[in-house]
Amino acid sequence: MKEKIIEYIDNNKKWIIDSMMKIISANTINTPPYGNENNGQKIIEKIFKNIGLEIDRFSPDEVSGFKDSKVYLKGRDYTNRDNLVGFIGKGEKKTLIFNGHIDTVPSHVFKWTKTKPFDAKLIDGKIYGLGACDMKGGIISSIFALKTIIDLDILIKGKVIIESVVDEEFGGANGSLACVKRGYTGDFVVIPEPSVMKICISNVSSRLMEIKITGDKGLMYAGTNVEGVNSMLLGAGLIIALKDYENFLNSLKDKHDIYKRIDKPIKFLFSDIKAGEIGPDKILTTPEECLVRIYMMNYPDVNKSKFNDMMLSFLKNYPSIYKYIEDGSVVFSEKHRFIEGGVLDLTVGNNKDFINKIIENGKKLANRELEISAMLGGTDFFAFSNYSNTPVVVLGPGGGNCHAADEYVNLEDLLDLSKIYAGLIYDYCQT
Ligand SMILES: [Zn+2]
Repeated sequence: MKEKIIEYIDNNKKWIIDSMMKIISANTINTPPYGNENNGQKIIEKIFKNIGLEIDRFSPDEVSGFKDSKVYLKGRDYTNRDNLVGFIGKGEKKTLIFNGHIDTVPSHVFKWTKTKPFDAKLIDGKIYGLGACDMKGGIISSIFALKTIIDLDILIKGKVIIESVVDEEFGGANGSLACVKRGYTGDFVVIPEPSVMKICISNVSSRLMEIKITGDKGLMYAGTNVEGVNSMLLGAGLIIALKDYENFLNSLKDKHDIYKRIDKPIKFLFSDIKAGEIGPDKILTTPEECLVRIYMMNYPDVNKSKFNDMMLSFLKNYPSIYKYIEDGSVVFSEKHRFIEGGVLDLTVGNNKDFINKIIENGKKLANRELEISAMLGGTDFFAFSNYSNTPVVVLGPGGGNCHAADEYVNLEDLLDLSKIYAGLIYDYCQT
């Protein structure tokens, strides 16, 4: 039967390419508090219907009790932003869930050169378009896997659930948490976020930190405030100190099982800095305020308060900076939410067997040696690892330019993933 799966997927490549073109053409941009996900859900719903899935479409807001739970991220508006769940199977055996977010970041504003953001193109084995890699490719691969099983007339004795959720970007997670709250549980969840074909059994914790630095103004060499604080220089010093902190966190990796095999598991993204203005009529003056944004990671066991405490205690090594934190000139604030980390414990239940099954299917169906690793960057992993009883892994395609112009996903990865997922469905839903 597994040969038939390979054959079917190789012979029906066109389906996945066409579906990618369609889903990328839909603007599903997330601009908190709003989003446009229903443009994509319309297309996914049609696909679900065509392959014969039962459908549950709902707003995160209408899931009973969810809005009052402590994990609900407040302030988002879910008008035209429905979660879409498709499922099939008799439910007698095991249940597999595939969970992917349909929203994308607004990276259409960048300068695209390969194609337009909503006009997907296949060039040299890469599908370019907004959301191709993060993560419409993963969603379409999981649907293709299920379509393969259905078209090959393989009876699903268990159950397969595909969740196309809203609002993952910008720390959302409400879409996935709403699915958990609605009662979707199973034996395993696979999140096809772009993991470059690695099986990620853990996810780092992360947070987008905004730092506001207030200094003095005017000409520091004229008048009386010659000893003033230049917010831009203080910001620069802080950035260097936080780069040291990133290195420090990487030096701790041996204490964290899966992370020790990754070269530099903790990666900070120094994304934005703003101080002063540049323009023809700009007055020569010291910038009174400097704003810095840094996306920071830490190990999965680090919770929200430890995340901050660790950083602040490290910064005590820099007294010339730390004194400004103490006097309130430097203020840290979080954007969106703290994204919890998570771990799949391989010593519990059938977790290890499941991972072995993925590895086995990787070899058999895609001729790939899949590595076990960890997901670096925030995903909805924690929605399952910390708030449901369903064990979770991330396994998704490789590509590039996520959250940038000319985002792409490798078509071969999508096809291999479909084979691996179909192999898993076959194994799990028969036994
Ligand atoms: Zn993503």
